[in-house]
Formats: sequence, structure tokens, C-alpha cells
Amino acid sequence: MRLKSVEHNFDNMSKLQKVIGLLRKEYGVPEIRRKEDPIESLIQVILSQNTNDKNRDRAWRGLKKRFNVMEEILDSDVEEIADTISVAGLHNTKAERIKNCLEEIKEKQGGLDLNFLEDMDVEEAKRWLRQLPGIGPKSAAVVLNFTFDKETFPVDTHVFRVTKRLGLVPEKTTREGTHDILEEKVPGGRKQEFHINLIKHGRSVCKARNPRCEICNLSSVCNYFLENKT
Ligand code: SF4
Repeated sequence: MRLKSVEHNFDNMSKLQKVIGLLRKEYGVPEIRRKEDPIESLIQVILSQNTNDKNRDRAWRGLKKRFNVMEEILDSDVEEIADTISVAGLHNTKAERIKNCLEEIKEKQGGLDLNFLEDMDVEEAKRWLRQLPGIGPKSAAVVLNFTFDKETFPVDTHVFRVTKRLGLVPEKTTREGTHDILEEKVPGGRKQEFHINLIKHGRSVCKARNPRCEICNLSSVCNYFLENKT
């Protein structure tokens, strides 16, 4: 039977709580280590754009091995940075972005330090980061969440797809709109856990092409499943 209309429950907090709980049951509570240095976090975010965690980590290790301190990256040629991070893909663009970001930070702050963001409120800190070259809503949210525990909610391709299929956001919501809804609705203290578990679920079960609804423990609350089941 195909259900013609399934309520989109983006205002339904109990559904959201249920999804958070079901994901926790499946994947547990991830261990979250607060990153120490926001500049390092920012560079890792740039390296992670359009690549997987493994290649991001390899590129990051290469960068740390080649350059002892951030100032050395700032003083290097884009080509040299690009060579060092080639495993991450789009290495020329990312190298330029990293160098430009470091230049902007130094120019605005007089040094390579982003710890002042800790004292800003979330909106102000987001605005500050987003003026940096190549730093969009997701990258800013990652840095603020994983470095300063600020209440942001990064939306990557998995989070965007899974929350839409579940009906936690209206169908036509943009990625930025999804970010705004989840940032407001997901309770404080649960954002990192929910973000990470949604990514795990998107990678292993709710895949882009062939979602594995038959083994998914969210099917009873999933709009996509309820609308398409026969
Ligand atoms: S039931 Fe299917 S579409 Fe819904 S979350 Fe699970 S895998 Fe994704």
C-alpha cells in the first residue's frame, strides 16, 4: 500500500527525540574529543571538503610533518602546500584556501590565533568565520562545534539527505535552511552526537542511491519509507 501523504514532522519534537534515541541505540554515544587549536581545526575542515576522513587525515599528517608551525604554512608557496596535501584532492584550491585564510586571520587579528571566538556568541562567531575565503556554513559550524562546543549543527551531504528522508525538515528545504532548523531544534548537548550518528547512518544504511530500508531501525518513523512501502 502506498500512503499518499505522510506528515512532515519537522515541528514534532517527539519525533526528533525518537530519532536521536534510535540512532543512539544503533551507534552509541560517540567519543568526542574537543580539538585543541581552532586554526588546526579550520585547516582540517578545508582539507575535508569533498573528500573522505581517511584522505583528510593523511593530508593533515603530511602537512604537520612538512611544516612545524602554522607560520611556516603562511610563509610557503601555494604550490608547496598543494604538493603536501595532494592526497586530499582539489589540492590546488585547498592550498590556496588555507593560505588565504591564514593571511586573513593574521591581517585581522595580528597573529594566527582564533581563540577569541570562544568569547563570541554563536552568531557573531559564525559571521566572523564565514568572512574567511572558502568557509561556508558547514565549515564554520564544524569549527565552532568541535573546537568550542558551541551549539551549531553542521549539515553535510549525509545529514542533509537522511534528515530530509526522515521528514525532520520540509522537503524543499535548502542545505542552509536545514542547518538553521536543526541548530534550533536539536537539544543542547545532543548536537555533536546526533550529527555524528546521522553521518554514520548515511554512510552505512541510508545511502544516497540505495537506502537499505529493510535493515534500518528508523523505518517506523521515516517519511521516505512510509511513503514508498508497498
Ligand atoms: S528507512 Fe530507509 S530512507 Fe528512511 S532513514 Fe532508514 S534507510 Fe533511510
